[in-house]
Parts: sequence; C-alpha cells; structure tokens
Amino acid sequence: MINVTKTYFPPLEEYVKQLERIWRNEWLTNRGELAIELEGKLKDFLGVQNVLLMNNGTIPMQIALKVLGEGGEIITTPFSYVATTSAIVWENCKPVFVDIHPEYFTIDERKIEAAITERTTCILATHVFGNPCAVEEIELIARKYGLKVIYDAAHAFGVNYKGKSLFSYGDVSTCSFHATKLFHTGEGGAVFCNDHKLNHQLFYSHNFGHNGPTAFHGLGINGKISELQAAMGLSVLPHIDEIMKNRRNCVEYYNRHINFSICDKIKIREGSSWNYSYYPVLFSSEATLIKIIEKMNDNGINPRRYFYPSLNNLNYVNSLKMPVSEDISSRILCLPLSHDLDYKDLQKVVKVINSHE
Ligand SMILES: *Cc1c(COP(=O)(O)O)cnc(C)c1O
Repeated sequence: MINVTKTYFPPLEEYVKQLERIWRNEWLTNRGELAIELEGKLKDFLGVQNVLLMNNGTIPMQIALKVLGEGGEIITTPFSYVATTSAIVWENCKPVFVDIHPEYFTIDERKIEAAITERTTCILATHVFGNPCAVEEIELIARKYGLKVIYDAAHAFGVNYKGKSLFSYGDVSTCSFHATKLFHTGEGGAVFCNDHKLNHQLFYSHNFGHNGPTAFHGLGINGKISELQAAMGLSVLPHIDEIMKNRRNCVEYYNRHINFSICDKIKIREGSSWNYSYYPVLFSSEATLIKIIEKMNDNGINPRRYFYPSLNNLNYVNSLKMPVSEDISSRILCLPLSHDLDYKDLQKVVKVINSHE
C-alpha cells in the first residue's frame, strides 16, 4: 500500500542510545534533560526565540485560547484539521468562521474585518499545508481592533517567511509533532511565543500552574512532554535534512509529471520557503475526485481527503455557509508524500491522474 504519508523511523540504535540516557538519569518526565536538550536544538534549527515542548499539538492551542480567548468569539478558518475548531469549542469560546482564499487556501484576510464584533478576542488561523497565512495583513487588523493572533502552525515546521521562521509571527504559534507530521516525537507538539510575559503564562499553564512545589501562579493543566517522546525527537532531528530532501524530490517529480490540465496545485505565498509537508491537488469536481480515489485504491494507493469536511459543517457549531471552503474541501486530495517513496510509487500515482479523461 502506498499511503498518504509514512512515519519516519530513525535507526533503532540511535533511539536506544537516547533511551539509555533516560535509564541512567532515572527521570521520565517533568522537563528532563532530553526535553530541555530538544528544546535547545529546535530553537537553533528553527531560529526562534522560545520553544516550549508539549505533549501534543492540540493542548498548546487550548492553553493559548484559555489564556487569550476569554470565552469570546474567535475568528477562525473552516479549512483545517478538526482540532482547530474543537479546541475553540472545548475552551468555551465561539468559533466565527471566515471563508478562505481560493488560491492559497488560508483564511481570507479580506473578509476578516466584517466578522469582528465586540465579543471577538482572537484570530486563530492555520498555515494550511505549510502555506503561510497573510500574516502582515492579519497583524494590521489585529492591532486595529486589539485582538490576539494565534496560528495553528501544525504544518509549518521549517517554513520561513520573509527571512524568519513562520513560528515567530502572531502572538502565539503552535505546532504538532504527531507521528504523521514532518518532524515528530510520536505524539508531541510545541508552542512558540516571543513575548516574555505571555510565554511565562503559557509555561506555567502547561504544568498545572505550578510556581515551585507548593505554590501556584494560576490555573493550569498537564501539557508536559515525556522524556520518551523527547528521545524520539532527538533521534529524528539529525535526519530532518534528509527527510526534507527526499520529500522535495517527490514534490519535484509530481510537479514535472502530473498533467495539470486535470487538476490544480496549491499556490505558495510569495516570500516563503516551503517545507514539502503535503501535496494537495484540486480536481474540477467532487465526482472526478471520487473516481480518482477509487482508481487509486484499486492500484494500492491510499490518498487522503485533507481537509474534508469544511469545519463550518461540524454538528457542534453554528455557522454561515462558507462557499469557497466547502467547494475546495469537496474537490481536494492530498497525494502520497513521504521520505520513503521511490520513483515507481510516484509513477503509479501520476499514471492514475494522467490517465483520467
Ligand atoms: C495534526 C494537526 C493538529 C493536531 O495535532 P496533534 O499533535 O495531533 O494534537 C492540529 N491542527 C492541524 C492543522 C493538524 O494538522
């Protein structure tokens, strides 16, 4: 089976070496040596001011919404993974959807202002498939109305925009290090925040609010990463260049060989270095998409409908129609993309698409 993605497994002996450190330390969690070392290495690799590792990519969004959302209305995108919306609802805030840009698939910044009310507290937008949102325009709008900006940057590992890490835009960015992501710790994630005071608040919030063993800064939850997860991260990170290079080769193969009169590809925003995290293609209709998926499945290929459905149609939200997002959701498909696809696999995928008439 050729799957939409494949988890990168580092050489086992490298993981065992990290585990041996844990056994020597007899220390499994609560910000051990490995977690702190991984934070330092990620800081250098990404070129960001602060990294705080957490146990997945959803909890940092919830913590940021708890701290900044104040139970208000959160302007958000309908075209993302379900966690972006569920985190808002889980934190007793109200998602207010704004439709997406038809070419970039990120929140349409031209439509944000019309959705702002007195109850709006934050904008939570996703850098979809590693494609940056219109971060400058969004910052201007946020400043004008006194809103906070949180980016679901789960797909944005390694992406730079205008010369700096995409994680350094907005008040808070969150990333996922789930096993299916470009860089992973099995389960895991991180939060990025440049403001010292806010970063401190996010920090104590992810550790029950602790201020030492017997005192508390405030409310908190458990968002801590374990040493076992950090060990995986420390074993994967040295291979990240090779992972990206292999993925870039796949992307270049698709770019060269797919017949783009049958489908369109994503438009990456000018000024950004992309990370080859996903390869979405957009067909002319849902009927074509379904036909192609069937043919792929017959050939042992397992693509995924990212993102479907459009999140404004979840049964626990109330929303206006989001015509662009609903339309794109119904026609978009992520093709197999990983460090471990060979030319035969890629050829097979391309052949199914190009033979469609
Ligand atoms: C993977 C993903 C998440 C959730 O991350 P977890 O680590 O699985 O909690 C959130 N948002 C987007 C866009 C994602 O792709």
